Amino acid sequence: MEGDAVRRHVNEEEATQYSPSAMLRGSSGHVVLAASVIDRHYISRQPRGILMRLVLRIGLSLIAMLSPVWCIQQVSVRRPDVRVTDSKFDIGIIGSGIAGGALAAALRDSGLRVLLLDRRDGPLDTSRGDHIQPAVQPLLARWGVLDRLLAAGAERRAGTRWFDANGKHIVTVPVPDESGAARAFLFLNHEEIGRVLLDTALESGAASVTGVSEWSLTSSAGQWTIDWQVGGQANSATCTLLVAADGTASSVRSRLEIDVEKHRYQFPIAVLYGRQLGVSSERTLDVHLTPERMVSLIPRVGGETKVGFPISAEELGFWKREKEEVLHRQLALWCPGVAFDSLRFGAVYPPVAQQSKPYQGKGAVVLLGDARHAMHPARSMGMNTCFRVADQLAIALTALNPGFTQAQVLPVLAEFEAEFDRDLTPRLAENHAAGLQMDTITGNGFPDLANQLRAVAADERLLHGMALKAAGLSG
Ligand SMILES: Cc1cc2nc3c(=O)[nH]c(=O)nc-3n(C[C@H](O)[C@H](O)[C@H](O)COP(=O)(O)OP(=O)(O)OC[C@H]3O[C@@H](n4cnc5c(N)ncnc54)[C@H](O)[C@@H]3O)c2cc1C
Repeated sequence: MEGDAVRRHVNEEEATQYSPSAMLRGSSGHVVLAASVIDRHYISRQPRGILMRLVLRIGLSLIAMLSPVWCIQQVSVRRPDVRVTDSKFDIGIIGSGIAGGALAAALRDSGLRVLLLDRRDGPLDTSRGDHIQPAVQPLLARWGVLDRLLAAGAERRAGTRWFDANGKHIVTVPVPDESGAARAFLFLNHEEIGRVLLDTALESGAASVTGVSEWSLTSSAGQWTIDWQVGGQANSATCTLLVAADGTASSVRSRLEIDVEKHRYQFPIAVLYGRQLGVSSERTLDVHLTPERMVSLIPRVGGETKVGFPISAEELGFWKREKEEVLHRQLALWCPGVAFDSLRFGAVYPPVAQQSKPYQGKGAVVLLGDARHAMHPARSMGMNTCFRVADQLAIALTALNPGFTQAQVLPVLAEFEAEFDRDLTPRLAENHAAGLQMDTITGNGFPDLANQLRAVAADERLLHGMALKAAGLSG
């Protein structure tokens, strides 16, 4: 690799972030595999709080260090990092979250040279999209990602159950039996999905730089030059196509003055985590149309449940600081028949629906993911849409050869944008309608929606139509 512009080296600090538990690392920088598996599959899922997990981890570390029995197999947790100096890439992606990682993974067999830059220096936010629709699983299989998600612990989910304000079951929307689609939703924590995508991309030769503190863009002679700082060091690379995958508040979008249409919903979404009692082994996503608001109970790996519902700004203190039993009581009041063994506050998000215009300026630029189409989480579509759009873009770009020129990529982008308008604009409008429906804390049991769902329950054709939509199999 002497003289090669891209030099790979082992970055110990990054290895620490990605190791299952820093506590388990030996002085040699290795972990014991068995201990790591126990940590990931048992200790991390302990419901009894941080202190108990810490005690278990220290105990396990001591056993791992002292007992040769544990030394079944040693694995390195070091991850290759990539340092990039004055190099040339076909595609530069700002943002290596779900959208950036998905595009880089989807391009793995294209031969195109891909650079990912991110300011983040740790895992993705766990509270976000974690359920993968049946319709997008075949494309993840095509990228070589689906098996890796399953190996990382992804679990299967059946359909969606809807309940009325009295906790009475209205309808279960099943997963449809359609050829070319999976028979279940898959779920895995968001940060793990992101890690799997990025690992797939890195193994196929993409370069990734994280912890970028500053970056700037200049366009000249059909090329973008990206200058950035990481760890106090200045770096630079060029690319022909610039991809903005840097999320809802995209900095690329604002720097390049790309127009965006935005709707801010009134109520933020609160996310709690807990262990729900009486959950069947065939997990479902449950939505309760409570007297006040819509409450979603979303399966998480290892038997946990993520609870999501709109709150007012004034209620935030209650959900963040009240005693656990008070939170239990409030949820039980809203959702009769639902009980938790443990419950904790997770995060709060201000949802937004926004759609960016395509870039019209100098140079080749495309926006991807939330930077292009942020949406309310009401229908669990944001991440799934990232996958679809990344796949469409990757298929279009794969027609180009490495070293493609700006003149060659611009018509490909124009076709991609036309396809986006045709396929996605109606889906975004529909998701926005669902977002508006959920954007209340005085829903009075959502009588219109409850009646629509009763009609769906009584009509097989309507039920099948709703099942196709939920699975992402119809527009
Ligand atoms: C509460 C909640 C629940 C959700 N549930 C679901 C669900 O069940 N199903 C579903 O499909 N979707 C869901 N979503 C939506 C989904 O999580 C998002 O649509 C998806 O994660 C967007 O990915 P992204 O890569 O476009 O953006 P992001 O995940 O925001 O990633 C952007 C990346 O760019 C980096 N970045 C940002 N700014 C800069 C900068 N200036 N310079 C360099 N790097 C930068 C960030 O560090 C990040 O890594 C949910 C969202 C929320 C908030």
